[in-house]
Amino acid sequence: MCGIICYCGKKQAIPILINGLKRLEYRGYDSAGFAVVENGAIGKNGRNNKNRRNIVVKAKGRVDHLEKKKIGLDVDATFGIAHTRWATHGKPSQVNAHPQTDCANKISVVHNGIIENYLELKEELMAKGHVFKSETDTEVIAHLVEEYFEDDLEIAVLKAVERLSGTFGIAVIHADIDHQVIIVKRGSPMVVGIGDKEYLAASDSNALTPYTKKMIYLSDDEIAVLNSDEYHIKNLRNETLEKKIEILETRDYKVDKRGFEHYMLKEIFEQPVSIENAMRGRIIESEGVSKLGGLEPVLDRLKNTRQLIIVSCGTSYYAGLLGRYIFEHLTELNIEVELASEFRYRRLKLDEDVAVLALSQSGETADTLAAIKEAKRKGALVLGIVNAVGTAITQITDAGVYNHAGPEIGVASTKIYTSQLVIQTLMALLIGRYQGVSFIEGSEIINALIRLPDQVREILKNADQIKEIAHKYSRYKNFLYIGRLFNYPTAMEGALKLKEISYIHAEGYAAGEMKHGPISLIDRNFPTVAIVPDDLTLDKMISNMQEIKARNGKILSVTNANVPQVEKISNDIIVVPRTIPILQPILNIIPLQLFAYYIAKEKGRDIDKPRNLAKSVTVE
Ligand code: GLU
Repeated sequence: MCGIICYCGKKQAIPILINGLKRLEYRGYDSAGFAVVENGAIGKNGRNNKNRRNIVVKAKGRVDHLEKKKIGLDVDATFGIAHTRWATHGKPSQVNAHPQTDCANKISVVHNGIIENYLELKEELMAKGHVFKSETDTEVIAHLVEEYFEDDLEIAVLKAVERLSGTFGIAVIHADIDHQVIIVKRGSPMVVGIGDKEYLAASDSNALTPYTKKMIYLSDDEIAVLNSDEYHIKNLRNETLEKKIEILETRDYKVDKRGFEHYMLKEIFEQPVSIENAMRGRIIESEGVSKLGGLEPVLDRLKNTRQLIIVSCGTSYYAGLLGRYIFEHLTELNIEVELASEFRYRRLKLDEDVAVLALSQSGETADTLAAIKEAKRKGALVLGIVNAVGTAITQITDAGVYNHAGPEIGVASTKIYTSQLVIQTLMALLIGRYQGVSFIEGSEIINALIRLPDQVREILKNADQIKEIAHKYSRYKNFLYIGRLFNYPTAMEGALKLKEISYIHAEGYAAGEMKHGPISLIDRNFPTVAIVPDDLTLDKMISNMQEIKARNGKILSVTNANVPQVEKISNDIIVVPRTIPILQPILNIIPLQLFAYYIAKEKGRDIDKPRNLAKSVTVE
């Protein structure tokens, strides 16, 4: 959600800032802006030319709206800050876009997160004569810094931050202070990039990789001061810190669509490879077991764990719901799945016999981060399955596994969902093989895993058939998705995909729950998507489908066999290859991702950046 990129060096800052914003675009945002200080005659100590202009350019909407602005883009400037905003306080508008500035228009601030005590600070500052322009919480930071500024920006920022409560990643510049960018982090990610005689900072290392691979990940309550020829990092007690420079090992994945019309479609088609990457080097066929290097340091503890609690949000939550069945099937663990945002309200007994597993694509989901901090406080073993390398969640967890799926740009998650399912299966197999799972059972699972990428390829070959079916269903305004057991989460995730990108109302339900409520909605204009594999749920699913048919409901079925009864009741049918029941959801979700995609495309939706949604949800 929202993004920050800053530059301080010798190159022209504006193109670097704009390029950085573009690399952050996938996160979802509603407005964008930057501030730079125009180069000009500099005084003796380099910081006292009071006539230099602070140039602030902002636009509602996309970064290209910003680029289309006529003024302010050709300014000679070699340091600055930029932002993509996802509004929390005040509507998306040019005025509310960041940077926010002080009364004298000299101090510029960009901010990710929320200042919880902004109202009381605003009143205090207004009483002192400060004039506010926007409705944002962010603007209080600019005025607070103005209030405390004498001649040292660093001190003024430290004093201002002392007054703030809430979560933030912020960057500040001052028109009178040459080549200085100040970064502060509390609860919202910030990373400093160390270049060759230049320094950068961003909320996401992805924005920095074209310029440097040397990163310093700030921890909470740390402040980084970037100048053109040096940088330093301090804590809020003003003590200098020695922070490790990490070399970002992840490849600089090319962020382009490779000929696909949307990132989402590209990512759906990447699934054979992302599934392969999730397994690469992680399977020992000869022993019928998996090998997860990231979990080795905690393996002994994990083997003796009594309970596993999976915490996550959104699509990752549905991956967790499915994880519950997978772990339960293969291990002796008691499994709970909890929405990360609800976890804090639970009164769970968390001790060293409990492991908490966080699932997060971005590794910075605020709710998930808060949940695992809580789990850690109480002594649980904290694990993660994360895609973005080096991010906040990976720093807090005791151990974890990376998806290695490459960046997922489309806001609606696809390849990370299937990757999370594969990795949870590998984890469950690893633990299960120390418990009841035999070599033969382990080998069966491994054989099935190895076949998955080709089976996904087979489904993708039929994308045109799914497109035709999507066309038939695109006029409906409501959908019900149903499934049982392993495919109950598939129903939830299928419905979520459709909601997210087509803005069509869709509900995912456990098929058995249908009679307890949603069946009252069914009529000829309310179709149902039934996930009906040939497994122990088949007969009961068929009964539920009969009940829908009896009420004139249309049925689109996703199945893995030619079952005459299913064929007879369904109006349309998508057949996917067959695998073992615990892995079948990985194949079943693919046509549902495509179904949602083609409906959204037909409706002309902004598929990669659906309204109101953000890729990486860094506010709670
Ligand atoms: N709370 C701030 C605002 O609404 C920042 C939101 C963001 O993280 O983009 O302007």
